[in-house]
Amino acid sequence: MPSCPICVSCQTVKNGRIHNGKQRFKCQDCGRQFVSQPTKKVIDLATRSLVDRLLLERISLAGIARATRVSEQWLQTYVNDKYAKVPRQVQVAPKKRGN
Ligand SMILES: [Zn+2]
Repeated sequence: MPSCPICVSCQTVKNGRIHNGKQRFKCQDCGRQFVSQPTKKVIDLATRSLVDRLLLERISLAGIARATRVSEQWLQTYVNDKYAKVPRQVQVAPKKRGN
């Protein structure tokens, strides 16, 4: 089984096929479905950690994509996935009522 392109987990299972007959897989760790694409460059962990650091620098996604040579599409998916995992802790302060 191919490892998950998103979280690099090896806990992947076959999950049917897509329209063109390619085998589709599903990651049991992050739940993402993907199609194994041997021709597609896999973003390695070093690049991912670099992206993680750049994301903290308020650089645009397009800028990060250019600097790390990943596709903007991949980066957008990566960021979306990343933020989906982070529990949102939006603290809504109760409004003070005039007294
Ligand atoms: Zn995964």
